[in-house]
Amino acid sequence: MKPFSAQFRGSRTGNTHSLDEVIYRDAEGGLLEVEHDLDALRHRSAGEWKSLFEARSGTHVWPYASGVWGKKEWLLPGIDDEDIVSLNEGWTNLFYAKRLGEHLGLKELWVKLCGNSHTGSFKDLGMTVLVSQVNRMRRLGVPIKAVACASTGDTSAALAAYCAAAGIPAVVFLPGGKISVAQLIQPISNGAVVLSLDTDFDGCMKVVQEVTQDKSLYLANSMNSLRIEGQKSISIELCQQFGWEVPDLIVIPGGNLGNVSALGRGFDMMLELGLINRKPRIVVAQAANANPLYLASKRGFDKLEPVQAKKTEASAIQIGNPVSYDRAVSILKKYNGAVYQVTEQQLADAAHLADRTGLYCDPHTGVALGALFQMVEEKAVTANDRVVVISTAHGLKFSEFKTKYHEKQLEGVISQYANPIVHCAPDVEKVRAALWERLK
Ligand SMILES: *Cc1c(COP(=O)(O)O)cnc(C)c1O
Repeated sequence: MKPFSAQFRGSRTGNTHSLDEVIYRDAEGGLLEVEHDLDALRHRSAGEWKSLFEARSGTHVWPYASGVWGKKEWLLPGIDDEDIVSLNEGWTNLFYAKRLGEHLGLKELWVKLCGNSHTGSFKDLGMTVLVSQVNRMRRLGVPIKAVACASTGDTSAALAAYCAAAGIPAVVFLPGGKISVAQLIQPISNGAVVLSLDTDFDGCMKVVQEVTQDKSLYLANSMNSLRIEGQKSISIELCQQFGWEVPDLIVIPGGNLGNVSALGRGFDMMLELGLINRKPRIVVAQAANANPLYLASKRGFDKLEPVQAKKTEASAIQIGNPVSYDRAVSILKKYNGAVYQVTEQQLADAAHLADRTGLYCDPHTGVALGALFQMVEEKAVTANDRVVVISTAHGLKFSEFKTKYHEKQLEGVISQYANPIVHCAPDVEKVRAALWERLK
């Protein structure tokens, strides 16, 4: 039997490169994609793959307990198990949003809580693959001194944690004053070199691309398709959680657009290998304040016109020049896709209305929910559709957003679902009066 294998292929030149090479673009500047030997993978039937993936869920055998590494042959087949750096990522809660679904008139609304992960966001899924590959390359003698990334907060938290677990130095470039306290303190705690630059994410991205021209600094942004490979596991895990049924609609928030590309690639691979035989619809939700993909969709995806991203509470998607634009457009075309934009008012209300039904939403999940609310209003989704919203981060990482909303201090937002604290003297009669006032 042929061994399972994967390599980089340049999206413009078509040339191939080993995954052990320090390279991010082909000779014509095209991004590299990880290409798998599908013929080798076809030696196992769809049924055999399903049984294997199922047998590994719930195992304690390294590294297969991880939701990512349980799909190892489809993501990074050539790596030795000892080189893998895993923090047991994946296998996140597929939350059945019963009351929120009822509120929207949907029979089946599910929220995939990808933020219930080691560092609190889906970025762990891609970072385990990238850092594992770096770990392997360093063992093979490739002179990589440190791994670097530009970040809107969650990528740097993930990079710092995985590097700390592996004993590899990490360097993170953050836009000064534009990320949450929780996001900032994570890489600090994990011992990364934290550089705060007086610019936005797009500015940080420019600097990190220049600095990583030096090959001893390995670039960890999602233009590096190793991250996409790990994030691909979301779609496979999702179908597995549904007993290999495909949902009708998936709504996902998008910034740099790596995650929607990964989601689509996971479905591509399941279709090619026969694990599923139908496609979901994939919808990207963007903040109206950072909406280059939305604007391009209005022009029939003619081309990307970068925008100056304005401030949004959904700070992880405050991106005006998304690196994975081409990847995302090809996925949207293949998956009958659409793009919605969501205002600050809509994202804040959607997140906090959802909280009232037992979720605890970060602003990015608010963006995805806000898009779904619009789709329901436009009847672009039907009552019987099985709908999945991808929640990308844990609400606990965004306490400032949630606190300000309930204190009615969010700029430009009217907090219609605010739940103000009742301040009361420690007097039984006054407490009773205040209580019944709120419960009436
Ligand atoms: C990174 C991130 C996104 C956007 O993912 P892209 O791959 O950049 O489109 C959305 N939400 C959260 C919380 C993130 O950290």
